[in-house]
Amino acid sequence: MSTDAATLSNIVVANHILANEEVVDAFGHISFRHPDDPEKYLLSRARAPELIEADDIVTYRLDGEAINAGDRRPYSERMIHGAIYEQRPDVNVVIHNHSYEVIPFASTGTPLRPVTHTCAPIGSNIPVWDMRDKFGENNHLVVTMEQGRDLAAALGEGTIALMKRHGCVVTGATVEETVMKAIYLQVNAKLQLQAMQIGEPDYLTDIEIQECTAMQQAPISLDRAWEAWCRRAAKNT
Ligand code: MN
Repeated sequence: MSTDAATLSNIVVANHILANEEVVDAFGHISFRHPDDPEKYLLSRARAPELIEADDIVTYRLDGEAINAGDRRPYSERMIHGAIYEQRPDVNVVIHNHSYEVIPFASTGTPLRPVTHTCAPIGSNIPVWDMRDKFGENNHLVVTMEQGRDLAAALGEGTIALMKRHGCVVTGATVEETVMKAIYLQVNAKLQLQAMQIGEPDYLTDIEIQECTAMQQAPISLDRAWEAWCRRAAKNT
């Protein structure tokens, strides 16, 4: 099964944006559900996102088996992606990252909630999954479908889940929407931590989160942000 050039280019660009915005460093990844087959997904071989090229993109079955890897070595944590696609037919894009701003919330369990309107798409309820609960003390990598499915269950019907002492997963229907959520998750984490240092944050209400999310995800905002992120990433790669 071939994947068209536009899809591959989109995946490459999304990787470069996430690296350029420092949502991912050498680690972290973004996958796309296969546009022609919902039982497969597209994900780079194990490589730092800023270096990824079209030739790095491999097709996987939802159980994590590579279809066309050849000598390209897969990410050990690819099971995160398949397990979420398996559980959530509405999800077409999954990002896993270890954003340094988000980690304090993934460490303490202090709830992460939108403190400003641009961050509304992260939603009002971000669960924290603790791998230790079911799998004990280990290296924290999600390397089996059982572990991936346990994380997917914690995500539930939401779009973001933090992973205790590790990072997070961010999901969405489109690449633009999902990348926006991943970027603003770390912006919110930074601002919420700053607010907590000088006082008690006055969070957006659920109604405000809905209203502001509709605005942020409308083309007038999302297309503008996407164009800027693409330009900024292109300058630096
Ligand atoms: Mn990880």
